[in-house]
Amino acid sequence: MADTVPISSVCIVGGGTAGWMAAAALSNKLAGLPVTISLIESAEIGTVGVGEATLPHIRAFNDALGIEEAEMMRATEATFKLGIEFCDWGRLGDRYIHPFGDYGPAINDVPFYQYWLRLRRAGDQSRLDAHSYPIVAAENGRFRRPSSDLAAVESTFGYAYQFDAGLYAAFLRRYAEKKGVTRTEGKVVRVDRDGETGHVRSVEVAERGTIAADLFIDCSGFRGLLIEGALETGYSDWSEWLPCNRAIAVPTESCGVLRPFTRATARTAGWQWRIPLQHRVGNGHVYCSSFISDDEAHDQLVTNLDAPMRAEPRRLSFTTGRRRLFWNKNVVAIGLAGGFLEPLESTSIHLIQDGITELLALFPDRAFASCDIAEYNRRMGLHYERIRDFLLLHYVATQRTDSEMWRHFTDLRLPDSLSERIEAWVTRGHLIRYEFGLFLPPSWIAVMLGQNLIPERYDIRAEAMSHGAVSAKAAAVREKVLSAVRQTPDHAAFIRQIGAAASLAAAEGC
Ligand code: FAD
Repeated sequence: MADTVPISSVCIVGGGTAGWMAAAALSNKLAGLPVTISLIESAEIGTVGVGEATLPHIRAFNDALGIEEAEMMRATEATFKLGIEFCDWGRLGDRYIHPFGDYGPAINDVPFYQYWLRLRRAGDQSRLDAHSYPIVAAENGRFRRPSSDLAAVESTFGYAYQFDAGLYAAFLRRYAEKKGVTRTEGKVVRVDRDGETGHVRSVEVAERGTIAADLFIDCSGFRGLLIEGALETGYSDWSEWLPCNRAIAVPTESCGVLRPFTRATARTAGWQWRIPLQHRVGNGHVYCSSFISDDEAHDQLVTNLDAPMRAEPRRLSFTTGRRRLFWNKNVVAIGLAGGFLEPLESTSIHLIQDGITELLALFPDRAFASCDIAEYNRRMGLHYERIRDFLLLHYVATQRTDSEMWRHFTDLRLPDSLSERIEAWVTRGHLIRYEFGLFLPPSWIAVMLGQNLIPERYDIRAEAMSHGAVSAKAAAVREKVLSAVRQTPDHAAFIRQIGAAASLAAAEGC
């Protein structure tokens, strides 16, 4: 009979965002069980040191830990985020916001955008964006929490944070240590495996001795110390679709209006991010080294900054893709150790959350049932693939051909899952739903319409009402949105009002 002895020890290798998120979640969810949790991190190696923009799901993660929002925001210099502004993606000069929310209400079960397509076909000039509360609030630098009144337009959105991920990890470390997680500072120099099963038995930490565990969580970053270094699991390289492989990151001074959104501006060989925190603005240039030299990429970044730099630019290299198995034997790779997709839609921290949630749902005993491991790998694989397709959409739904990189995407053979979606949209205005899709229809609509991918047809059901009635309903939505935004507080004022301001006051007036 299979050994069903429960896991009694978990060792997390790595103390970046992934390591401390895993430690915090496990120490909370496994409280009361006879399981010890240890974490090893090395100050000498350090963390990747970037990762500032998040997705709304992180609120559920924090809520499950009982974290108070204002306290977390003060500790991490956080601002609120209503979406991402994309500049120059469809054509040079274009601008749209991918919001954390919807566009107008469905009418007779037909999505609002179908009516908007009908009005547009008839010559109506109004922007779809004007029917979205989070977009208009973001454009006006306003923020409030969603209303609990589901009839109110202020209930039609979610929100996330822009924060210092290093400070977030430190915040979670305090949380996890209070819950009993033990931390070892030092470098893992050797991994010992069971000769028969191949499972990792223990790791040796320089000058600290050996740490044994039943389950290891590899959060060691790009190097994948256990999943790759010890188990040689292999990596699926997705550079064919997402060729960006370098980044240069630099913080600048905080100046001007505190925007409740992240910005991603397309460049000739990649794109540039701008993420406003309370105490500084995070900036970076993600690019493909086949299409631009490191020096040119540096110059493009520096000449496009809108405030003085606060530190020297830092360079990073990566290969887009995923580990062939996220869970191999008794090692589960979470965070950069599991894979990396460029940060265009702020998905990495979210994938850490997925990795932890799926692990808790399938938490093993010492038999390590192969069906559970296979299910974990299937689910995590889908999470990564869905996001890959959505990221790729940004590069192919474009009219830009002004540089080698944009021309590269013109001839690219897309994954079937994405080309079917694009075809259904262009020919019928229909959005095929994915199993496991992180990004829901409004996100796809935002990018497709924002990048001028206009469907040839709209849903015939949108014809059921007279043109005048549809037009009046749309005008009423716009009016509701505008009037709600006028009553929404200024973003910085709201942060202060809820007691979430850390260094916000000092940043004012520069
Ligand atoms: P790391 O931060 O690299 O941590 C690895 C840990 O392992 C460290 O503590 C290190 O000391 C330890 N370690 C490694 N080797 C050893 C050893 N031998 N012994 C002991 N300890 C060891 N994500 C987002 O969600 N939003 C963003 O806006 C975003 N922007 C990004 C921009 C760029 C350019 C890049 C590259 C990534 C970005 N990310 C973003 C991803 C994000 O940075 C990571 O997902 C997140 O920081 C988690 O990293 P990690 O904990 O997996 O790895």
